[in-house]
Order: sequence, then structure tokens, then C-alpha cells
Amino acid sequence: MANQDHEPESDRSCGCKIGRVADRYELSTLDDDLAAYWTGEAAEQYSTRELAAYLNQRILEAALEEAAITVKEGEVENTYRLLTDDDVSSGTQVQTRTELERDGVPIEEVESDFVSHQTVYNHLTDCLDVSLETPSDEERLERSAEKLGALQNRTAAVTADTVAQLKRNGILDIGEYNVTVSITVTCEECFQEYTIRDLLDERACDCNSH
Ligand SMILES: [Zn+2]
Ligand SMILES: [Zn+2]
Repeated sequence: MANQDHEPESDRSCGCKIGRVADRYELSTLDDDLAAYWTGEAAEQYSTRELAAYLNQRILEAALEEAAITVKEGEVENTYRLLTDDDVSSGTQVQTRTELERDGVPIEEVESDFVSHQTVYNHLTDCLDVSLETPSDEERLERSAEKLGALQNRTAAVTADTVAQLKRNGILDIGEYNVTVSITVTCEECFQEYTIRDLLDERACDCNSH
């Protein structure tokens, strides 16, 4: 935009998904909130994963309000949990969606507006040009988990391709198959074994727990 400088602040939204979502749900202070929470300028410091949940809950709240649903304390958080938490049964998730749909919330559309922590990260760093001088431990763990996760996915993909190719050429004989890559880290002092994911979650082996 050539005359960007002359446009009022409120009309300048970035082209990414978060910019569109902020416009769509009229989340006017969103950019400032995200930046303040991420850098810890606000009272609390949040990771991009937590910020994605925060934003998605605001989206959900706006959608509920748009459907003229009176939202009780804690209800947005709970509904969001029912929709997204891995621990919630798929039956409960379907029921939650059906109820929202019945109440006039276009839940499929709303869920497609939900953002990932990667999108939040890109929006903060690319669109808002915010950076963290000292990433929090949380943030560093997330970045590391992401990097290793991508590596595992790539290993699984290459393995699946290789097996498929050998099978196609009649060199390898296998039925329907599934490739999983798991990386294990073992502490040689306490002999405790962890998947890398669990180790990053727990952040310590058993050495100091005795
Ligand atoms: Zn953006
Ligand atoms: Zn140990």
C-alpha cells in the first residue's frame, strides 16, 4: 500500500489469518494484547501456544455473542475445552458442536477461524515485528518440540515412501502398514527412559526425585 502512512490506525490490518480474524470478530485491541502478553509487558507472560488458545477463546466468545447467547462466567473456556481438548471424547465434541449449531453459532466456520500457535508466532514476528529478547523457558521448549516434531514427521514420511517404493517393486512384502517414529532419551544415571516429547513436558529425569 503506497499511502499506508496516511491511513487511520484501525484500517491497517495485516494480510494474515490473524488480521482477517481480528477484523471479522472486531477484536480491536488484539495486536496490542498479543504483543504485551508475549513479551511479558502485561502482568503475565504467555507462550504462543497459550496465546493461540487465548485468541481462539475470544473468537468463540465473539461468535457466541453474535448469536445472542448469554455467556456465563467460565463458559467460553469450558466450551473451548470441549471442542478442542484431546481428553474430551469425540461423542462429547460432536454433541457440543450440535448444540452450538442449534443455538445459531456457525461452529464449523468459527473453528476454521481458530489459529495455531505457529500462526500466532508468525503474526507477532512478521506482521507486528515483535521479538523476544529473552525467550521464556516455555517458548524455548515449544520451539524445540516443534523442530524435533518436524524432524520426526520427515523421517516418517521418508520411511513410508521408501517402504512403498520397495513394495511397489516387489522387493518388500508387507500388507497395509503404518510408520511411527519415536525418539527415546535415557538417563544413564537413573536409567529412566523418556520419549523426547515426555522429557520436554516433564523437564527432568528421576535423578533428583529420590
Ligand atoms: Zn498478521
Ligand atoms: Zn536421571
